[in-house]
Amino acid sequence: MRRYLIQTFGCQMNVHDSLRIEEVLSAQGYAATDAPELADLILFNTCSIREKADHKLRSAVGTFRELKERKRDLVMVVAGCMAQQRGEALLDEIDLVDVVIGPDNIAELPELVGHVRAGGPPVARTVFDLDAPSFLQAHAPTDRHEACAYVTVMKGCDERCTFCIVPYTRGAERYRTSSEIIAEIDRLCDAGVKEVTLLGQTVNSWHEPHESAEGGSRFAWLVERIAREVPKLARLRYTSPHPRHMTDALIAAHAELAVLPAHVHLPVQSGSDRVLRRMLRRYRRQDFLERAAKLRAARPSFTLSTDIIVGFPGETEEDFQQTLSLVREAGFVSVFAFKYSPRPHTPALRLGDDVPEELKSERLERLFEVADAQQAAHLQSLVGSELEVLLEGRSKTDPARMTGRSQRHEIVHVAVPPGLDMRGKLVKVRASSAYKRSLVAEAVEPWPRLPPVDAFPPVEAVQPARKQALRLPLVSS
Ligand code: SAM
Repeated sequence: MRRYLIQTFGCQMNVHDSLRIEEVLSAQGYAATDAPELADLILFNTCSIREKADHKLRSAVGTFRELKERKRDLVMVVAGCMAQQRGEALLDEIDLVDVVIGPDNIAELPELVGHVRAGGPPVARTVFDLDAPSFLQAHAPTDRHEACAYVTVMKGCDERCTFCIVPYTRGAERYRTSSEIIAEIDRLCDAGVKEVTLLGQTVNSWHEPHESAEGGSRFAWLVERIAREVPKLARLRYTSPHPRHMTDALIAAHAELAVLPAHVHLPVQSGSDRVLRRMLRRYRRQDFLERAAKLRAARPSFTLSTDIIVGFPGETEEDFQQTLSLVREAGFVSVFAFKYSPRPHTPALRLGDDVPEELKSERLERLFEVADAQQAAHLQSLVGSELEVLLEGRSKTDPARMTGRSQRHEIVHVAVPPGLDMRGKLVKVRASSAYKRSLVAEAVEPWPRLPPVDAFPPVEAVQPARKQALRLPLVSS
Protein backbone atom coordinates (compact mmCIF):
# COMPACT_ATOMS: atom_id res chain seq x y z
CA MET A 1 0.00 0.00 0.00
CA ARG A 2 1.24 3.51 -0.85
CA ARG A 3 1.42 6.10 1.88
CA TYR A 4 1.16 9.91 1.93
CA LEU A 5 2.18 12.61 4.38
CA ILE A 6 0.63 16.09 4.16
CA GLN A 7 1.97 19.26 5.78
CA THR A 8 -0.54 22.11 5.82
CA PHE A 9 0.28 25.81 6.16
CA GLY A 10 -2.03 28.80 6.39
CA CYS A 11 -5.73 29.37 6.79
CA GLN A 12 -8.87 27.20 7.17
CA MET A 13 -9.21 27.15 3.38
CA ASN A 14 -5.97 25.18 3.23
CA VAL A 15 -6.94 22.89 6.09
CA HIS A 16 -10.12 22.13 4.18
CA ASP A 17 -8.25 21.62 0.88
CA SER A 18 -5.88 19.20 2.65
CA LEU A 19 -8.87 17.09 3.73
CA ARG A 20 -10.09 17.01 0.12
CA ILE A 21 -6.57 16.00 -0.99
CA GLU A 22 -6.64 13.17 1.56
CA GLU A 23 -9.94 12.01 0.09
CA VAL A 24 -8.57 12.08 -3.46
CA LEU A 25 -5.50 10.07 -2.39
CA SER A 26 -7.52 7.60 -0.29
CA ALA A 27 -9.70 6.88 -3.34
CA GLN A 28 -6.45 5.84 -5.09
CA GLY A 29 -5.65 3.37 -2.30
CA TYR A 30 -3.19 5.58 -0.39
CA ALA A 31 -3.10 5.57 3.41
CA ALA A 32 -1.93 8.40 5.68
CA THR A 33 1.34 8.22 7.61
CA ASP A 34 3.14 10.53 10.04
CA ALA A 35 6.49 8.86 9.36
CA PRO A 36 8.33 10.51 6.43
CA GLU A 37 10.49 7.43 5.79
CA LEU A 38 7.32 5.37 5.16
CA ALA A 39 5.82 7.95 2.77
CA ASP A 40 5.68 7.45 -1.00
CA LEU A 41 4.26 10.94 -1.45
CA ILE A 42 4.90 14.08 0.61
CA LEU A 43 2.64 17.06 -0.08
CA PHE A 44 3.05 20.63 1.17
CA ASN A 45 -0.21 22.57 1.08
CA THR A 46 1.09 26.12 1.07
CA CYS A 47 0.09 29.64 1.97
CA SER A 48 1.45 32.82 0.40
CA ILE A 49 -0.39 35.53 2.32
CA ARG A 50 2.82 36.87 3.91
CA GLU A 51 6.47 36.53 2.93
CA LYS A 52 7.19 34.34 5.96
CA ALA A 53 5.10 31.61 4.29
CA ASP A 54 7.70 31.42 1.45
CA HIS A 55 10.47 30.76 3.96
CA LYS A 56 8.40 28.16 5.78
CA LEU A 57 7.88 26.18 2.58
CA ARG A 58 11.55 26.23 1.63
CA SER A 59 12.69 25.05 5.02
CA ALA A 60 9.94 22.39 5.19
CA VAL A 61 10.90 20.93 1.80
CA GLY A 62 14.60 21.17 2.72
CA THR A 63 14.14 18.89 5.73
CA PHE A 64 13.31 16.03 3.33
CA ARG A 65 16.34 16.53 1.01
CA GLU A 66 18.33 13.62 2.43
CA LEU A 67 15.27 11.33 2.31
CA LYS A 68 14.42 12.30 -1.28
CA GLU A 69 18.00 11.69 -2.40
CA ARG A 70 17.95 8.27 -0.75
CA LYS A 71 14.44 7.30 -1.85
CA ARG A 72 14.34 8.19 -5.54
CA ASP A 73 10.68 7.17 -6.10
CA LEU A 74 9.39 9.48 -3.35
CA VAL A 75 7.08 12.04 -5.02
CA MET A 76 7.19 15.57 -3.59
CA VAL A 77 4.18 17.81 -4.30
CA VAL A 78 3.60 21.52 -3.64
CA ALA A 79 -0.09 22.50 -3.59
CA GLY A 80 -2.05 25.58 -2.47
CA CYS A 81 -1.54 29.31 -2.89
CA MET A 82 2.24 29.31 -3.34
CA ALA A 83 1.84 26.66 -6.06
CA GLN A 84 -0.73 28.86 -7.81
CA GLN A 85 1.41 32.00 -7.41
CA ARG A 86 4.66 30.51 -8.70
CA GLY A 87 3.43 27.75 -11.00
CA GLU A 88 6.13 26.11 -13.10
CA ALA A 89 8.83 28.43 -11.72
CA LEU A 90 8.65 26.51 -8.41
CA LEU A 91 9.96 23.41 -10.18
CA ASP A 92 13.17 25.31 -10.98
CA GLU A 93 13.35 27.17 -7.67
CA ILE A 94 13.10 24.02 -5.51
CA ASP A 95 14.83 21.13 -7.25
CA LEU A 96 13.24 18.48 -5.00
CA VAL A 97 9.70 19.20 -6.21
CA ASP A 98 8.05 16.82 -8.71
CA VAL A 99 4.51 18.19 -8.91
CA VAL A 100 3.09 21.70 -8.49
CA ILE A 101 -0.69 21.80 -8.28
CA GLY A 102 -3.12 24.73 -7.83
CA PRO A 103 -6.14 24.75 -5.48
CA ASP A 104 -8.57 24.30 -8.40
CA ASN A 105 -6.71 21.22 -9.72
CA ILE A 106 -6.78 18.92 -6.70
CA ALA A 107 -8.90 16.32 -8.53
CA GLU A 108 -6.08 16.00 -11.11
CA LEU A 109 -3.46 15.06 -8.50
CA PRO A 110 -3.52 11.27 -9.16
CA GLU A 111 -3.01 11.87 -12.90
CA LEU A 112 0.03 14.13 -12.32
CA VAL A 113 1.56 11.78 -9.73
CA GLY A 114 1.04 8.89 -12.15
CA HIS A 115 2.84 10.86 -14.86
CA VAL A 116 5.88 11.39 -12.62
CA ARG A 117 5.87 7.77 -11.41
CA ALA A 118 5.85 6.62 -15.01
CA GLY A 119 9.15 8.48 -15.48
CA GLY A 120 7.73 11.77 -16.81
CA PRO A 121 9.47 15.10 -16.03
CA PRO A 122 8.33 17.33 -13.13
CA VAL A 123 4.99 18.90 -13.92
CA ALA A 124 2.87 21.93 -12.90
CA ARG A 125 -0.90 22.35 -13.25
CA THR A 126 -2.33 25.65 -11.99
CA VAL A 127 -5.43 26.42 -14.06
CA PHE A 128 -8.41 28.23 -12.52
CA ASP A 129 -11.77 26.58 -13.23
CA LEU A 130 -13.42 29.93 -14.03
CA ASP A 131 -15.81 28.66 -16.70
CA ALA A 132 -16.89 25.44 -15.05
CA PRO A 133 -16.19 25.82 -11.33
CA SER A 134 -15.90 22.55 -9.50
CA PHE A 135 -16.21 22.30 -5.74
CA LEU A 136 -14.80 19.12 -4.29
CA GLN A 137 -17.43 17.69 -1.98
CA ALA A 138 -16.54 16.81 1.57
CA HIS A 139 -17.19 13.16 2.18
CA ALA A 140 -18.55 12.67 5.64
CA PRO A 141 -15.89 11.29 7.95
CA THR A 142 -16.71 7.74 9.00
CA ASP A 143 -13.73 6.78 11.13
CA ARG A 144 -12.59 10.11 12.53
CA HIS A 145 -15.64 10.97 14.69
CA GLU A 146 -15.20 14.59 13.67
CA ALA A 147 -17.51 16.96 15.49
CA CYS A 148 -16.69 19.91 13.23
CA ALA A 149 -16.47 20.21 9.46
CA TYR A 150 -15.85 22.91 6.85
CA VAL A 151 -18.12 23.41 3.85
CA THR A 152 -17.00 25.63 0.97
CA VAL A 153 -19.70 28.02 -0.27
CA MET A 154 -17.60 30.18 -2.59
CA LYS A 155 -14.01 30.57 -3.72
CA GLY A 156 -11.92 33.38 -5.14
CA CYS A 157 -12.12 37.07 -4.30
CA ASP A 158 -13.45 40.09 -6.21
CA GLU A 159 -12.33 42.60 -3.56
CA ARG A 160 -9.20 44.45 -4.52
CA CYS A 161 -7.60 45.15 -1.14
CA THR A 162 -4.27 46.62 -2.14
CA PHE A 163 -2.20 44.49 0.27
CA CYS A 164 -3.70 41.15 -0.61
CA ILE A 165 -2.42 38.42 -2.92
CA VAL A 166 -5.59 36.28 -2.65
CA PRO A 167 -7.31 37.50 -5.86
CA TYR A 168 -4.15 36.41 -7.66
CA THR A 169 -3.79 33.00 -5.97
CA ARG A 170 -7.48 32.06 -5.79
CA GLY A 171 -8.93 33.86 -8.83
CA ALA A 172 -12.32 35.53 -9.32
CA GLU A 173 -15.30 34.75 -7.10
CA ARG A 174 -17.26 31.59 -7.92
CA TYR A 175 -20.25 30.36 -5.95
CA ARG A 176 -21.76 27.01 -5.12
CA THR A 177 -25.53 26.46 -5.34
CA SER A 178 -27.51 26.52 -2.11
CA SER A 179 -28.91 23.06 -2.80
CA GLU A 180 -25.43 21.55 -3.15
CA ILE A 181 -24.28 23.30 0.07
CA ILE A 182 -27.34 22.10 2.01
CA ALA A 183 -27.02 18.53 0.71
CA GLU A 184 -23.39 18.41 1.87
CA ILE A 185 -24.25 19.76 5.34
CA ASP A 186 -27.08 17.25 5.62
CA ARG A 187 -24.72 14.36 4.79
CA LEU A 188 -22.11 15.60 7.27
CA CYS A 189 -24.71 15.81 10.04
CA ASP A 190 -25.87 12.26 9.29
CA ALA A 191 -22.26 11.19 9.88
CA GLY A 192 -22.21 12.83 13.31
CA VAL A 193 -20.93 16.34 12.55
CA LYS A 194 -22.39 18.89 14.99
CA GLU A 195 -20.75 22.10 13.84
CA VAL A 196 -20.23 23.35 10.29
CA THR A 197 -18.10 26.34 9.30
CA LEU A 198 -19.03 27.83 5.94
CA LEU A 199 -15.88 28.78 4.07
CA GLY A 200 -15.04 31.39 1.47
CA GLN A 201 -12.46 34.14 0.93
CA THR A 202 -15.29 36.68 1.33
CA VAL A 203 -17.84 34.15 2.52
CA ASN A 204 -20.67 36.63 3.07
CA SER A 205 -20.63 37.94 -0.51
CA TRP A 206 -22.29 34.62 -1.46
CA HIS A 207 -25.18 34.51 -3.92
CA GLU A 208 -26.50 31.73 -6.14
CA PRO A 209 -24.19 31.21 -9.16
CA HIS A 210 -26.98 32.15 -11.59
CA GLU A 211 -27.79 35.41 -9.74
CA SER A 212 -26.09 38.69 -10.59
CA ALA A 213 -23.65 40.26 -8.13
CA GLU A 214 -25.63 43.52 -8.62
CA GLY A 215 -28.39 42.01 -6.48
CA GLY A 216 -25.96 41.99 -3.53
CA SER A 217 -25.14 39.33 -0.97
CA ARG A 218 -27.71 36.58 -0.32
CA PHE A 219 -25.68 35.04 2.46
CA ALA A 220 -28.27 35.79 5.17
CA TRP A 221 -30.87 33.92 3.11
CA LEU A 222 -28.46 30.97 2.72
CA VAL A 223 -27.86 30.82 6.47
CA GLU A 224 -31.62 30.92 7.19
CA ARG A 225 -32.24 28.11 4.68
CA ILE A 226 -29.54 25.94 6.27
CA ALA A 227 -31.03 26.54 9.73
CA ARG A 228 -34.51 25.63 8.48
CA GLU A 229 -33.60 22.65 6.30
CA VAL A 230 -30.94 21.02 8.49
CA PRO A 231 -32.41 21.29 12.00
CA LYS A 232 -30.06 18.57 13.30
CA LEU A 233 -27.10 20.95 12.85
CA ALA A 234 -26.13 22.29 16.29
CA ARG A 235 -23.78 25.13 15.28
CA LEU A 236 -23.20 27.12 12.12
CA ARG A 237 -20.14 29.36 11.78
CA TYR A 238 -18.65 31.17 8.79
CA THR A 239 -15.27 32.61 7.86
CA SER A 240 -14.01 35.06 6.61
CA PRO A 241 -16.70 37.66 6.25
CA HIS A 242 -15.92 41.06 4.73
CA PRO A 243 -17.32 44.00 6.73
CA ARG A 244 -18.95 45.57 3.67
CA HIS A 245 -21.13 42.44 3.20
CA MET A 246 -22.16 42.33 6.86
CA THR A 247 -25.73 43.26 5.95
CA ASP A 248 -28.60 44.13 8.30
CA ALA A 249 -30.24 40.85 7.23
CA LEU A 250 -27.18 38.88 8.36
CA ILE A 251 -27.05 40.77 11.66
CA ALA A 252 -30.78 40.03 12.15
CA ALA A 253 -30.07 36.32 11.45
CA HIS A 254 -27.63 36.34 14.39
CA ALA A 255 -30.42 37.71 16.58
CA GLU A 256 -32.98 35.18 15.41
CA LEU A 257 -31.18 31.90 14.73
CA ALA A 258 -29.87 29.95 17.72
CA VAL A 259 -27.68 27.89 15.40
CA LEU A 260 -25.52 30.97 14.67
CA PRO A 261 -22.98 31.82 17.38
CA ALA A 262 -23.03 35.02 19.41
CA HIS A 263 -19.65 35.69 17.83
CA VAL A 264 -18.18 36.88 14.52
CA HIS A 265 -14.60 37.14 13.31
CA LEU A 266 -14.71 40.34 11.25
CA PRO A 267 -11.36 41.52 9.78
CA VAL A 268 -11.07 45.32 10.09
CA GLN A 269 -7.35 45.69 9.09
CA SER A 270 -7.01 49.30 10.35
CA GLY A 271 -8.85 51.90 12.43
CA SER A 272 -7.71 54.85 10.32
CA ASP A 273 -9.89 56.09 7.44
CA ARG A 274 -6.80 57.27 5.59
CA VAL A 275 -5.23 53.77 5.75
CA LEU A 276 -8.54 52.01 5.00
CA ARG A 277 -8.81 54.14 1.84
CA ARG A 278 -5.27 53.27 0.78
CA MET A 279 -6.04 49.60 1.47
CA LEU A 280 -9.19 49.93 -0.70
CA ARG A 281 -11.31 48.29 1.99
CA ARG A 282 -14.43 50.19 0.84
CA TYR A 283 -15.77 51.01 4.31
CA ARG A 284 -14.93 53.70 6.86
CA ARG A 285 -14.07 53.36 10.51
CA GLN A 286 -17.54 54.63 11.42
CA ASP A 287 -19.26 52.06 9.15
CA PHE A 288 -17.32 49.28 10.84
CA LEU A 289 -18.08 50.53 14.33
CA GLU A 290 -21.78 50.86 13.55
CA ARG A 291 -21.93 47.27 12.29
CA ALA A 292 -19.97 46.07 15.32
CA ALA A 293 -22.43 47.86 17.63
CA LYS A 294 -25.43 46.32 15.83
CA LEU A 295 -23.90 42.85 16.10
CA ARG A 296 -23.19 43.30 19.79
CA ALA A 297 -26.80 44.39 20.30
CA ALA A 298 -28.12 41.36 18.36
CA ARG A 299 -27.58 38.86 21.20
CA PRO A 300 -26.55 39.11 24.85
CA SER A 301 -22.78 38.93 25.34
CA PHE A 302 -22.01 38.89 21.62
CA THR A 303 -18.25 38.94 20.96
CA LEU A 304 -16.10 40.05 18.03
CA SER A 305 -12.60 39.14 16.94
CA THR A 306 -10.62 40.62 14.07
CA ASP A 307 -7.53 40.77 11.83
CA ILE A 308 -5.29 43.85 11.78
CA ILE A 309 -2.27 44.81 9.67
CA VAL A 310 0.27 47.16 11.26
CA GLY A 311 2.85 49.16 9.33
CA PHE A 312 0.89 49.41 6.07
CA PRO A 313 2.74 51.83 3.72
CA GLY A 314 2.37 55.41 4.95
CA GLU A 315 0.89 54.42 8.35
CA THR A 316 1.68 57.20 10.83
CA GLU A 317 1.63 57.13 14.62
CA GLU A 318 -1.71 58.96 14.44
CA ASP A 319 -3.13 56.28 12.10
CA PHE A 320 -1.91 53.59 14.47
CA GLN A 321 -3.50 55.40 17.45
CA GLN A 322 -6.78 55.26 15.51
CA THR A 323 -6.36 51.49 15.24
CA LEU A 324 -5.75 51.16 18.98
CA SER A 325 -8.81 53.25 19.74
CA LEU A 326 -10.95 51.18 17.36
CA VAL A 327 -9.79 47.97 19.06
CA ARG A 328 -11.00 49.42 22.38
CA GLU A 329 -14.23 50.83 20.99
CA ALA A 330 -15.22 47.64 19.12
CA GLY A 331 -14.26 45.64 22.25
CA PHE A 332 -12.58 42.80 20.34
CA VAL A 333 -11.99 39.76 22.55
CA SER A 334 -9.32 38.41 20.25
CA VAL A 335 -7.06 40.06 17.65
CA PHE A 336 -4.93 38.41 14.96
CA ALA A 337 -2.38 41.04 14.02
CA PHE A 338 0.32 40.98 11.35
CA LYS A 339 3.16 43.21 10.19
CA TYR A 340 2.54 44.42 6.65
CA SER A 341 4.38 42.17 4.21
CA PRO A 342 4.74 43.34 0.58
CA ARG A 343 3.40 40.65 -1.75
CA PRO A 344 4.00 40.15 -5.46
CA HIS A 345 1.25 41.31 -7.87
CA THR A 346 -0.42 43.54 -5.24
CA PRO A 347 -1.19 47.25 -5.90
CA ALA A 348 0.32 48.28 -2.52
CA LEU A 349 3.79 47.51 -3.91
CA ARG A 350 3.56 50.89 -5.65
CA LEU A 351 3.19 52.57 -2.23
CA GLY A 352 6.59 51.32 -1.06
CA ASP A 353 7.22 49.68 2.30
CA ASP A 354 8.22 52.74 4.28
CA VAL A 355 7.45 51.77 7.87
CA PRO A 356 10.72 50.42 9.28
CA GLU A 357 10.71 46.82 10.50
CA GLU A 358 11.48 47.84 14.14
CA LEU A 359 8.54 50.25 14.12
CA LYS A 360 6.23 47.54 12.75
CA SER A 361 7.40 45.22 15.57
CA GLU A 362 6.92 47.92 18.17
CA ARG A 363 3.37 48.69 16.96
CA LEU A 364 2.54 45.00 16.88
CA GLU A 365 3.65 44.69 20.48
CA ARG A 366 1.62 47.71 21.59
CA LEU A 367 -1.42 46.36 19.78
CA PHE A 368 -1.09 42.93 21.42
CA GLU A 369 -0.81 44.62 24.81
CA VAL A 370 -4.24 46.21 24.37
CA ALA A 371 -5.75 43.11 22.74
CA ASP A 372 -4.37 40.72 25.37
CA ALA A 373 -5.74 42.87 28.19
CA GLN A 374 -9.19 42.82 26.58
CA GLN A 375 -9.01 39.06 26.03
CA ALA A 376 -7.93 38.46 29.65
CA ALA A 377 -10.75 40.66 30.98
CA HIS A 378 -13.27 38.85 28.79
CA LEU A 379 -12.14 35.36 29.84
CA GLN A 380 -12.03 36.37 33.49
CA SER A 381 -15.59 37.71 33.22
CA LEU A 382 -16.73 34.22 32.22
CA VAL A 383 -15.33 32.47 35.29
CA GLY A 384 -18.29 31.08 37.26
CA SER A 385 -20.65 31.11 34.29
CA GLU A 386 -22.25 28.18 32.52
CA LEU A 387 -21.25 27.40 28.93
CA GLU A 388 -22.19 24.82 26.36
CA VAL A 389 -19.04 23.22 24.96
CA LEU A 390 -18.61 21.02 21.91
CA LEU A 391 -15.81 18.62 22.87
CA GLU A 392 -13.36 18.04 20.02
CA GLY A 393 -10.63 15.79 21.45
CA ARG A 394 -8.24 15.02 24.31
CA SER A 395 -5.98 17.91 25.30
CA LYS A 396 -2.49 17.58 23.79
CA THR A 397 -0.82 18.59 27.04
CA ASP A 398 -3.11 17.02 29.65
CA PRO A 399 -4.72 13.64 28.92
CA ALA A 400 -7.09 14.11 31.86
CA ARG A 401 -8.79 16.93 29.91
CA MET A 402 -10.72 17.31 26.71
CA THR A 403 -10.69 20.52 24.71
CA GLY A 404 -13.58 22.12 22.93
CA ARG A 405 -15.16 25.41 21.99
CA SER A 406 -17.97 27.31 23.61
CA GLN A 407 -20.90 28.42 21.48
CA ARG A 408 -19.22 31.84 21.20
CA HIS A 409 -15.85 30.26 20.29
CA GLU A 410 -13.79 30.43 23.50
CA ILE A 411 -11.38 27.49 23.85
CA VAL A 412 -12.42 25.46 26.92
CA HIS A 413 -10.49 22.66 28.67
CA VAL A 414 -12.78 20.29 30.51
CA ALA A 415 -11.70 17.56 32.95
CA VAL A 416 -13.10 14.32 31.51
CA PRO A 417 -12.41 10.94 33.13
CA PRO A 418 -9.74 9.00 31.23
CA GLY A 419 -11.19 6.37 28.91
CA LEU A 420 -14.42 8.26 28.40
CA ASP A 421 -14.70 9.27 24.75
CA MET A 422 -16.87 12.37 24.62
CA ARG A 423 -15.66 13.60 21.21
CA GLY A 424 -18.41 15.36 19.31
CA LYS A 425 -20.62 15.74 22.37
CA LEU A 426 -22.19 18.98 23.54
CA VAL A 427 -21.84 19.30 27.31
CA LYS A 428 -22.83 21.89 29.87
CA VAL A 429 -19.87 23.11 31.92
CA ARG A 430 -19.06 25.82 34.45
CA ALA A 431 -15.88 27.85 33.91
CA SER A 432 -13.65 27.64 36.98
CA SER A 433 -10.57 29.63 35.89
CA ALA A 434 -9.02 31.43 32.95
CA TYR A 435 -5.69 31.03 31.19
CA LYS A 436 -4.30 33.67 28.83
CA ARG A 437 -6.25 32.37 25.82
CA SER A 438 -8.63 29.74 27.16
CA LEU A 439 -10.88 28.65 29.99
CA VAL A 440 -10.82 25.72 32.38
CA ALA A 441 -14.20 24.24 33.25
CA GLU A 442 -15.94 21.40 35.04
CA ALA A 443 -18.97 19.47 33.85
CA VAL A 444 -22.22 20.65 35.44
CA GLU A 445 -23.84 17.23 35.34
CA PRO A 446 -22.18 13.94 36.30
CA TRP A 447 -20.33 12.08 33.57
CA PRO A 448 -21.87 8.83 32.41
CA ARG A 449 -20.45 6.03 34.52
CA LEU A 450 -18.98 3.48 32.16
CA PRO A 451 -17.63 0.28 33.68
CA PRO A 452 -14.11 -0.74 32.71
CA VAL A 453 -14.06 -2.58 29.37
CA ASP A 454 -13.18 -5.97 30.90
CA ALA A 455 -15.92 -5.60 33.51
CA PHE A 456 -18.73 -5.66 30.92
CA PRO A 457 -21.06 -8.55 31.77
CA PRO A 458 -22.31 -10.74 28.93
CA VAL A 459 -25.05 -8.96 26.93
CA GLU A 460 -27.89 -11.20 28.22
CA ALA A 461 -26.95 -10.38 31.84
CA VAL A 462 -27.43 -6.61 31.39
CA GLN A 463 -30.41 -5.49 33.48
CA PRO A 464 -32.68 -2.66 32.25
CA ALA A 465 -31.48 -0.41 35.10
CA ARG A 466 -27.92 -0.94 33.98
CA LYS A 467 -28.81 -0.01 30.39
CA GLN A 468 -30.28 3.19 31.77
CA ALA A 469 -26.99 4.07 33.42
CA LEU A 470 -25.17 3.72 30.12
CA ARG A 471 -27.10 6.58 28.55
CA LEU A 472 -25.17 9.81 28.23
CA PRO A 473 -27.08 12.41 30.22
CA LEU A 474 -24.95 15.34 29.08
CA VAL A 475 -25.64 15.06 25.38
CA SER A 476 -28.00 17.83 24.45
CA SER A 477 -28.22 17.03 20.76
N1 SAM B 1 -11.06 37.75 3.94
C1 SAM B 1 -10.15 38.43 4.78
C2 SAM B 1 -10.37 39.94 4.70
O1 SAM B 1 -11.47 40.41 4.88
O2 SAM B 1 -9.43 40.68 4.50
C3 SAM B 1 -8.75 38.01 4.41
C4 SAM B 1 -8.23 36.82 5.15
S1 SAM B 1 -6.45 36.61 5.00
C5 SAM B 1 -6.35 34.97 4.59
C6 SAM B 1 -5.95 36.67 6.67
C7 SAM B 1 -5.33 37.94 7.10
O3 SAM B 1 -4.00 38.07 6.65
C8 SAM B 1 -5.99 39.21 6.56
O4 SAM B 1 -7.20 39.50 7.19
C9 SAM B 1 -4.93 40.24 6.82
O5 SAM B 1 -5.03 40.77 8.12
C10 SAM B 1 -3.63 39.44 6.71
N2 SAM B 1 -2.90 39.81 5.48
C11 SAM B 1 -3.29 39.68 4.21
N3 SAM B 1 -2.36 40.17 3.37
C12 SAM B 1 -1.35 40.64 4.15
C13 SAM B 1 -0.10 41.29 3.88
N4 SAM B 1 0.29 41.57 2.65
N5 SAM B 1 0.69 41.60 4.94
C14 SAM B 1 0.31 41.32 6.20
N6 SAM B 1 -0.86 40.73 6.50
C15 SAM B 1 -1.68 40.39 5.50
